[in-house]
Amino acid sequence: MALNSRLIVVSNRVPPASGFESQDRDEASAGGLVTAVRAAMEQSGGMWFGWSGRSTRRRVTTGSTVRIFGRIQLATIDLSDDEVSLFYLGFSNRTLWPLLHSFPMRVVIRHDTYRAYRRINLRFAQSLMPLLRSDDIIWIQDFHLFHLGYELRRLGWRGKLGFFLHVPFPPAEIFNIMPWSRETLEALLHYDLVGLHDERYLHNLVDALDVELGGELNGDSYGYQGKSARVGVFPIGIDPDKFRPREYGQQHKLSNELGLAEVPDRRLILGVDRLDYTKGIPHRLRIFERMLERHPNLGGKLIYIQISSPSRTRVPEYVQEKEQVERLVGQINGRFSEAGWVPIRYLYRSYSQSELAGFYHETDVCLVTPLRDGMNLVAKEFVAAQDVDSPGVLVLSRFTGAASTMKDAVIVNPYDVEGTAEATYQALRMPVSERRRRNRSLLSVVERYSSQSWSDSFCAALQDI
Ligand code: UDP
Repeated sequence: MALNSRLIVVSNRVPPASGFESQDRDEASAGGLVTAVRAAMEQSGGMWFGWSGRSTRRRVTTGSTVRIFGRIQLATIDLSDDEVSLFYLGFSNRTLWPLLHSFPMRVVIRHDTYRAYRRINLRFAQSLMPLLRSDDIIWIQDFHLFHLGYELRRLGWRGKLGFFLHVPFPPAEIFNIMPWSRETLEALLHYDLVGLHDERYLHNLVDALDVELGGELNGDSYGYQGKSARVGVFPIGIDPDKFRPREYGQQHKLSNELGLAEVPDRRLILGVDRLDYTKGIPHRLRIFERMLERHPNLGGKLIYIQISSPSRTRVPEYVQEKEQVERLVGQINGRFSEAGWVPIRYLYRSYSQSELAGFYHETDVCLVTPLRDGMNLVAKEFVAAQDVDSPGVLVLSRFTGAASTMKDAVIVNPYDVEGTAEATYQALRMPVSERRRRNRSLLSVVERYSSQSWSDSFCAALQDI
């Protein structure tokens, strides 16, 4: 959509410059967010601001480095090693991430990491402020920067200011575990518009505001002590054209990548996740194990491929999760493997999205079973990549944002290992007519809630305030 003003997007990390350099909009390295906002940025001018991903041993002061790609600027700041450790690895990844995903037992409360988080939010504001023009529209992304809007207002920013939370918002009694819940909620009211993926998260946010502040919801505006923010639901999506089978279906095949032997009736189950405890990979492995126990007829034919892309490898909880996953893969393979058949193929690496598109296309059942996930884009990518005449089946956790709209997936509760194992077995046996019906309905949802419609609707709502 065409904006009347320059769009400033702020996120913890800026996307790689290659996402802006290339003339090819479909370039695989450009993430969904870049693809979604690039058109608006190119039309009315735009800037992306965030941490460069670099850290140094020196103390870092305010100021940024600006690179120019046509009408788009990429402005970055560096952080010191200590700041990365306290703000990013500490408060963002060990306090806010488990808190917002409702894993209270994993939440680490440390005052020094919170102080660093506030300092870095202030540094972002101080470094961004000199780059702004009064009619810019600022759109801040995600939980690393809850307080950035508040800091910008304190420094005198009066223009449009939006915030989008890419992860769930938990029930109030979980959010309040954080000693700084009240000031975080107050900070949110400095935005003109706060967006979330799902009605449930919106409900939780309004409830937390009620409990902590006792303000009032009028229509879609939450007001408290003279401040008010509009709150709304904007479900993020993908660009379905990037995953359509005609693009990649024949190019990248899982069976080639893994050198799988041609076996009559071979069936493939796929999981694709960052290696994160919210994704429930150990539960999924147990679900697969239970299916093999209950249905020995699957022996020799069924292969479960788990792609786990490395993530947050310096955070202790992630190191433990990786060890647990690898132990379980070893145990299950040790128990069930036969000559010529290893049931689980575990790939600890990242693939490009064009490779993933081909892999999705060849898959019979995609297991998307997080214990909690803000949205989950893998579910949408899998649907877009299917052959409409003989589509695979999506098995989807009810604890994902995606489940609210993707009702024709096989919806499961991953904590229920037995029940999910049986649902997955039924998915493998689903008749083609039912697979087609479900895929048609899911595809219409994926096309309706695309990455483009997500950014257009958020920017339009912010511009109209
Ligand atoms: N992805 C990728 N390569 C991989 C694994 C994942 O490019 O090896 C991409 C995937 O295509 C998807 C994103 O990473 O777009 C994962 O998004 P999702 O919402 O499913 O989970 P998140 O990692 O954001 O929690």
